[in-house]
Amino acid sequence: MIVILQADVTEGSPEYRQILDYLANKPNIATRVHREVGTIRSVTEIYLIGDTMALDKAEIESIPGVERVVRISEDYRVVGRHHDDTRPTGFEYNGVRFDQDNLHVFAGLCAADTPEHAEKMLRALREHGQACTRMGAYKPRTSPYAFQGHGKRCLPWVFELAGKYGIKVIAMEITHDSHIDEIRAALEQTGRPTGVMLQIGTRNTQNFELLKCVGRQSEFPILLKRGFGITLEESLNAVEYVASEGNRKIVFGLRGMKTNMGDPHRNFVDFAHVPVVKRLTRMPVCIDPSHSVGSRERSPEGILDVFHVAAQGVIAGANMILVDFHPAPAKALVDGPQALTLEELPYFLEDVAIARAAYEQRRALARRFVSKN
Ligand code: PEP
Ligand code: MN
Repeated sequence: MIVILQADVTEGSPEYRQILDYLANKPNIATRVHREVGTIRSVTEIYLIGDTMALDKAEIESIPGVERVVRISEDYRVVGRHHDDTRPTGFEYNGVRFDQDNLHVFAGLCAADTPEHAEKMLRALREHGQACTRMGAYKPRTSPYAFQGHGKRCLPWVFELAGKYGIKVIAMEITHDSHIDEIRAALEQTGRPTGVMLQIGTRNTQNFELLKCVGRQSEFPILLKRGFGITLEESLNAVEYVASEGNRKIVFGLRGMKTNMGDPHRNFVDFAHVPVVKRLTRMPVCIDPSHSVGSRERSPEGILDVFHVAAQGVIAGANMILVDFHPAPAKALVDGPQALTLEELPYFLEDVAIARAAYEQRRALARRFVSKN
């Protein structure tokens, strides 16, 4: 059960004390207070754990200072969308709003390889009005002999270049908790020219200690990718590991599942789960068409499979697209075969806009239908 306090009731208020005293007198109930700081308003939420079935929702709602009480299901206590749960979705980071209603494209390099390639990529993004990118420094690779990313060495030039081209958020995978400190130090050293969304890759979805570490820091938002060989429920519980440590600025990423049912795609595309995740949780949902498809194959009408699946995710309501581009795919050190070219960037953005407009029309149609029936 979550007791949501009125916006003006904070830890120092007499109402706050009264509510906590009331709860302290209830047997087998533990409380955990969470303050959600937003740009428009901030709210205090009291999580009740234990024998909550015995509590009277209406009685708690009648206590001065309580705005609302939400009875939560056992699953996904923090990020879940519970019964009668109209709390807002999403968060703001470095001037960019992420929620279940909007859409951001994170086009960029799978791995930062050379400053020249990064600069070409970032310049193209600015030319096409983009404020976000993807750029990996720490790459988890199947083979220990493959390029592992430049690690912390590339962070200063990646951040400086991103700042030069007005990029506000870079999605960057981390594979170890020490990478958080390295990113923080490099941002400080370069004067914070940009922001970072910490990406937890599919191979680390159940690395619980790493999840707890990213959850304990509140500076960076997190993109947590679905595990490619586990159930959706297991991946959403992984999100709870992060959120229950305190950080709720989380985007959930769909990137395809490992099964030969999806062949010849690299992974079985799972974007039908975009609306499912939006229904089960209050997180914005990201799709990764590049790692799902894994190639530049195209269908007979000439549309690349990467474009097709991106459009499928967007028309289903996706809120973020992580997509691999490279100025010279043949020279890319990671995932060149699936990268789109810079010439394809405006074409991709236009195709995404078509799918987004169709999604918005579908949403308006659904509202009209529901209001009439
Ligand atoms: C990536 O986005 O570069 C990546 C490695 O993704 P995933 O964890 O989904 O394989
Ligand atoms: Mn990749």
